[in-house]
Amino acid sequence: MENESNAKDGLQIMNKALRQAIIAGNWKMNNTPAQAASLINEMKPLVADADCGVVLCVPFVDIPAALEAAKGSNIKIGAQNCHFEASGAFTGEISAPMLKDMGVEYVIVGHSERRTYFGDTDITVNKRARAALENGLTAIICVGETLEQREQGITDELVALQTKIALQGVTADQMKKVIIAYEPVWAIGTGRTATAEQANEVCYVIRETISELYGCKTGNAVTIQYGGSMNAKNADELVAQPDVDGGLIGGASLKAEDFSVIVKAASK
Ligand code: PEP
Repeated sequence: MENESNAKDGLQIMNKALRQAIIAGNWKMNNTPAQAASLINEMKPLVADADCGVVLCVPFVDIPAALEAAKGSNIKIGAQNCHFEASGAFTGEISAPMLKDMGVEYVIVGHSERRTYFGDTDITVNKRARAALENGLTAIICVGETLEQREQGITDELVALQTKIALQGVTADQMKKVIIAYEPVWAIGTGRTATAEQANEVCYVIRETISELYGCKTGNAVTIQYGGSMNAKNADELVAQPDVDGGLIGGASLKAEDFSVIVKAASK
């Protein structure tokens, strides 16, 4: 018990400004390579002054065009998934070494759409995250509860467990390249956003879980994003929360102006 409260004190005294806020766009299955280049060219001047990390996770086929368009800017390019094996008979999959070789720096793993439609489980999310980290990519690991689970009152336990399983076998050193995105499933693509308090509460639970696993220093340093219908109107309040370090943005990352407003909110 004493350790637990010490951990909490340690977390509370940490200044949020010492962590890097990151706004990552998740384009999902949108934009051809030509559209990707055009959207990035439109975004570049709008986010050039960002005082936070700016990442765009694009469809696999857009990666070369996106990397080319983002060259020389502060926009980093990410993918939306990676397989856990380096190569082999896995038709339709892309491996972490392939992404690394192209110049990709980030990869989303365990997005709820991958869990819901493509059979990703906590175990495969862990394997994908480890493959990403072993290949020097930054893994944006998604966790979050369904509406039913929230109504059952098990959000905190569930998200803590998802976080623990996702991080099994991940070393303290590798944690420097881990971002956790708290994405309540009921808020993704629904226009229904978690309140700032709900978002902060669960991000804090994740931080506490990471502190238990790796110590307060790592818990305090890890970037924990909120994702779920974040937009130009609600971003200010969400990203201002003490334990929310930016966001993973779906729909609003497809519009240069809206995305740049969110980046500005995280830069304050
Ligand atoms: C997402 O795809 O991770 C997401 C949060 O989507 P949206 O912002 O559209 O809810």
